[in-house]
Amino acid sequence: MLKFIYPETCLACESSSSSPICTSCLKKLHRIDLNNSCKSCHNTIDTATQICSTCLKTPPKWNSSASPFEFKGISRDLILRFKYSRHLYLLKYLCEEMENSFQEAGLPEPDIITYVPMHPLKKISRGWNQSELLAKEFAKSHPDSTCLPLLKRPHLGKAQASKAKRERLKSVKDLFSIKKRDNIKDRSILLIDDILTTGATLNACCKILRQEKPKEISVLTIARG
Ligand SMILES: [Zn+2]
Ligand SMILES: [Zn+2]
Repeated sequence: MLKFIYPETCLACESSSSSPICTSCLKKLHRIDLNNSCKSCHNTIDTATQICSTCLKTPPKWNSSASPFEFKGISRDLILRFKYSRHLYLLKYLCEEMENSFQEAGLPEPDIITYVPMHPLKKISRGWNQSELLAKEFAKSHPDSTCLPLLKRPHLGKAQASKAKRERLKSVKDLFSIKKRDNIKDRSILLIDDILTTGATLNACCKILRQEKPKEISVLTIARG
């Protein structure tokens, strides 16, 4: 049983390994260099400053962010397996990597840990919300923080994958609303999601949270798309 929960094989390639990821796969993980990426969103820097051109033009609505991985290669495979097939043995490993990134980026210790919500019907059809699973697991190593569902998603969004970025920004704008109004004011919030791509979803969440005047909002994801 224990062997099933904590396999003695590499999580990526299933070869025998005493660590969660074998040495060969470790080399193929696409890690983000937090010191050598945009300070706001950890995208590649394309300006002479420490902030990327996208963030200079439209600053994100969060105060700080961190992600351990780029969304490609082995990192992408692991995340997709966790997200769509609920390979729960990956949860502990992914959260450890998020914890390392959280520490390395020096994100503030949160009062409240929350996550990007899923529409109830979508949660029923998938069976779980991967961001909620990540937030609850992450919260286990932050006993002074409270994990709360601050946001809800009352509307089903249209399939977003094929949309142009501009359209996507428009479509997520009003997708979220506040679920728990208490406790947000002057608190430090950590918002967890699986992947930061355009940032539209996380910005939409931050915009709603900002209306409740938190002290600050940090964003933590497994990967940067
Ligand atoms: Zn491996
Ligand atoms: Zn940026």
